[in-house]
Amino acid sequence: MDQASTTQEREWIRLSKQLRDNERIWSGFRQIEVRMIGSPSLPDLIDIITLGIPETFPGIDCVTVACADPEYEMTRLIEAGGAPDSGARSFVAIPRETLDGLFTRPWRPRLGPVDERLHALLFSNHPCASGSVAVTPLVRRGELIGSLNQGSRDPRHFIPGIATDLLEHLAAVAAMCIDNSINHERLKLDGLTDPLTGISNRRFFERRLAEEVERWARRAGPLVCMLVDVDFFKQVNDQYGHQVGDRVLRQIASLLGQDLRGSDVLARYGGEEFVLLLPGTTPVQGAAIAERLRSRIEHSAFVIPEGIDLDVTVSIGMACLQPGVDSYGPDPAVWLFKQVDAALYQAKEAGRNRVIQAVVS
Ligand code: GH3
Ligand code: MG
Ligand code: MG
Repeated sequence: MDQASTTQEREWIRLSKQLRDNERIWSGFRQIEVRMIGSPSLPDLIDIITLGIPETFPGIDCVTVACADPEYEMTRLIEAGGAPDSGARSFVAIPRETLDGLFTRPWRPRLGPVDERLHALLFSNHPCASGSVAVTPLVRRGELIGSLNQGSRDPRHFIPGIATDLLEHLAAVAAMCIDNSINHERLKLDGLTDPLTGISNRRFFERRLAEEVERWARRAGPLVCMLVDVDFFKQVNDQYGHQVGDRVLRQIASLLGQDLRGSDVLARYGGEEFVLLLPGTTPVQGAAIAERLRSRIEHSAFVIPEGIDLDVTVSIGMACLQPGVDSYGPDPAVWLFKQVDAALYQAKEAGRNRVIQAVVS
């Protein structure tokens, strides 16, 4: 065999090997894609991404998913549904600003060696991400929702400049599936009850507010509304973790609901905010009730597993629709809630742990 044909033959072998490798990668990619799209739940999806990708693609040793999850909604769903020690270890809830700081626009994957800060942030449970990493933005409807993070022991696996279209496609499908499964979970929970505390949710409150304002318009008596916001609640989460934060929220819900009448409404308005609607209550009675609730929370023991008793206080904004008054604008419900919200803001500004009643001129 002459020199030229040997070179040609080697080239042919190289090319056919490359074709086979590409075919394997594509087939693995299609499998992952189909599994992601068909996953029945968010925990399952996170497992497919974080366990399925390293199993399918040679050279990828670990995968994590990081998302902005300010209310710990995803964290809770994943912890509740995932098998212990599975994808839950590989899901990272990161602050919004940190996520935004990971990428610059236009959002593109970051490839290369991993520095200490990035490792601690995205791969803290995964020492195998020591050689090189690919951190790919998860974008859904034009919004950055998280990042798909792949790590390799091999420093040359992810090097700047290599083609990233497959990575980006995988991340686009992952982002779509994450978004869909969150919406699906929300739909399941979106009855009228708040799943964390067991009290009514915002949707229920909004319905009842409309009904009670209608009743008020028929001159049925005054209507008091109050908005209760936990003071410095972010610090509880930051210091003791969101599970302790969740327990505090449950306890507050139960303290607020202790002596309500059948016609009163207590709901979790969102996050660490609760709302009360007290029909047939005068502003003077309402202010006394608000003060009692504030004081009850201030003096309750919030004991966390470490045995520490947390100091928990709330600020309360209160307002009232008086019977026979018709200066509340075209939508008294909107007026009432605006007043309550402004009063709460004042209570925060004035130093927290207090009740402020909206003064109507
Ligand atoms: P302020 O006194 O001004 O109200 O301060 P704050 O820290 O309470 O207010 P901020 O709005 O900064 O933070 C609210 C925090 O509540 C941030 C968010 O992570 C947390 N949070 C919201 N929903 C939940 C939840 O369901 N569980 C837990 N654990 N935390 C939640
Ligand atoms: Mg708040
Ligand atoms: Mg608060």
